[in-house]
Amino acid sequence: MAQQRVCLREPIADIVQAAALLDHAVTAHLLGRTDEAEHLISQADMPKVWEWTESILGKNSPHAIPDGSCREPSLPLALRTPARMPSMQEKSWLHARDGYHCRFCGIPVIRSEIREKIRRVYPGAVRWGKRNAERHAAFFALWVQYDHLLPHAKGGGNELSNLVVTCAACNYGRGGYTLEKMGLCNPLDRPPIQSPWDGLERFDRATRRLG
Ligand SMILES: [Zn+2]
Repeated sequence: MAQQRVCLREPIADIVQAAALLDHAVTAHLLGRTDEAEHLISQADMPKVWEWTESILGKNSPHAIPDGSCREPSLPLALRTPARMPSMQEKSWLHARDGYHCRFCGIPVIRSEIREKIRRVYPGAVRWGKRNAERHAAFFALWVQYDHLLPHAKGGGNELSNLVVTCAACNYGRGGYTLEKMGLCNPLDRPPIQSPWDGLERFDRATRRLG
């Protein structure tokens, strides 16, 4: 059996720096220093961070190669649990359990709803086009996903014990393969990361208070 790994590719230090810049940007925003916030958000849009994400979820990724050459059997469509995104309540339960870090690679994550609220205030700094290349590097790398540990096509269901909080690269890089096929350990076998990173959720709470 192939050696097991915790994630498809180790995170790079620039991701932590970019997350810190976004964290400072939200702090500046909450203090009314909007020019500083905009500048910090733009600084976090680092090409190296974009390259890291793309190296995992992009086409022909050298990091997302399944173990062995044989194809994994999939369940017939009629036998699969229909794919469903978790509800808002289920998402909040998942964040209460997993925090705001990817359960595989450990990088900080941000909900798309929060990204959109920040983008509405800073549309020039938070690039978010249809193509990956047109997206702000840090918001793209830190884009939270709710990943099915056992994919639907392999018989996985929507129960919370089959879902984990992940980053975009770890979710899309693995695609529809099982953990075993990708040589990945089950992330629920190790404790979630505890940290002060709040997923920039305080931006939303401040907006609601003001609104
Ligand atoms: Zn990850």
